[in-house]
Amino acid sequence: MADGQDRWVLHVDMDAFFASCEQLTRPTLRGRPVLVGGVGGRGVVAGCSYEARARGARSAMPSHQARRLVGPSAVFVFPRMAVYRALSRRVFEVFAEHAPVVEQVSVDEAFLEPPELRGADVDRTRRWAQDLRAAIREATGLPASVGAGAGKQYAKIASELAKPDGVAVVPRRDHAEVLYPLPVRSLWGVGPVAGERLSQFGISTIGDLAAMDDDDVVHALGRTVGPAIARIARGYDDRPVHERAEAKQISAESTFAADLTTAGQVAVAVRRSAEGAHRRLLGDGRAARTVTVKVKRTDFTSITRSYTLPAGTTSLETIVAVARSLAPDPLDFGAIRLLGVGLSGLTEIHQDALFEQEFLPGARPVPAHDELDDLPDIVGVGTTVTTDDDETPAGGAAAVADDALHAPPAIGAWRQGLEERFRTGSDVRHPEFGHGWVQGSGHGRVSVRFETAVTGPGRMRTFAEDDPDLELADPLDSLGW
Ligand SMILES: [Mg+2]
Repeated sequence: MADGQDRWVLHVDMDAFFASCEQLTRPTLRGRPVLVGGVGGRGVVAGCSYEARARGARSAMPSHQARRLVGPSAVFVFPRMAVYRALSRRVFEVFAEHAPVVEQVSVDEAFLEPPELRGADVDRTRRWAQDLRAAIREATGLPASVGAGAGKQYAKIASELAKPDGVAVVPRRDHAEVLYPLPVRSLWGVGPVAGERLSQFGISTIGDLAAMDDDDVVHALGRTVGPAIARIARGYDDRPVHERAEAKQISAESTFAADLTTAGQVAVAVRRSAEGAHRRLLGDGRAARTVTVKVKRTDFTSITRSYTLPAGTTSLETIVAVARSLAPDPLDFGAIRLLGVGLSGLTEIHQDALFEQEFLPGARPVPAHDELDDLPDIVGVGTTVTTDDDETPAGGAAAVADDALHAPPAIGAWRQGLEERFRTGSDVRHPEFGHGWVQGSGHGRVSVRFETAVTGPGRMRTFAEDDPDLELADPLDSLGW
């Protein structure tokens, strides 16, 4: 075939996955700006529907900011990871039926390299991708976008171009037209620091980097990564698609340009690292039982302290509270150069709304907002996922055992995730009306929308809060499977 291409890698990415799962299982939310995330004062957005994105909402944005952008029509729901994980599992079953090797990137993303597409032309590749999307839609009811290209990097960029709910096929012969105009930051491995270095050399697009002199590449990006990134810009990404071991630990850490010397600075730094690790945890789709804080002094000695919860959590506030109780006070410990938060003991989530409990260890003073400005600049940010293949922690500094710091955090309280019996977004059941979700509550009344993925939009009914017929239900029942 004249325009066939040797290699086709596909990147499948579910569209607005968390929000789409909500719109699937709660049909009233279809077409509405849905925000999935923490609703507390410091909550962040974990996912948003396209309707919410159209008004400027984005993942990882503070919830109050997203709410302000979207306006009064915003629907805020807390994440129901058990539902997302169940749908993810079904999506991956479809992948496995279509391709012998599936490389899972996150709960809603994977690379495939189907052998039957070797040598295929653009049209055949596009049809294959459309068939896959149809199969995903058939099995789950969810929209997915598929990008195809001559390597993983190009497939990944193509799936971005395909969104929402589409296919984009970018053959190598179209790289100059399609890829070269894109910002060089679109490439893996080109973060803020590398991007800044390249801009000093007048490089702003992928095309600029592809045309860059080899010596300049080494000068700008170093001998280790420079040539590899330039090669990818030039159209050659040979990295294989392969199954990955499941992550054993997820962590995020920050190195500071100036040392942290106050408890307030440490508290802000803990939250920042915990948010980074929590984002990765949501992407992974499992819950974490163990929270670890790693801190390094300015003399490069370090300590690592962990605490294991009775049950896995996906709650950012729980993770922040535990991490904060583990972090040392610089007054006793000395100035801190690096701080990281790790999550391990990754477990499957079951019925998270039914049994969701928030763990709040001994309260520590929360720093005032103005201390945010007080935090020294971060010079290095890392997020790592440790798998079985790679159990050695990065960095050479010896960990110093410090027995005085190994005491578990004081357990302040177990709080049932709600003061009232039903909170907005909870799954409930009623013997007469079936499965539904709490759309609002207050003044002793609870309004429930009775619907699931298989019912179509349902009716809302209002009950007394203490109605004995109304009880909390398993979120998985909203799938109607
Ligand atoms: Mg996605």
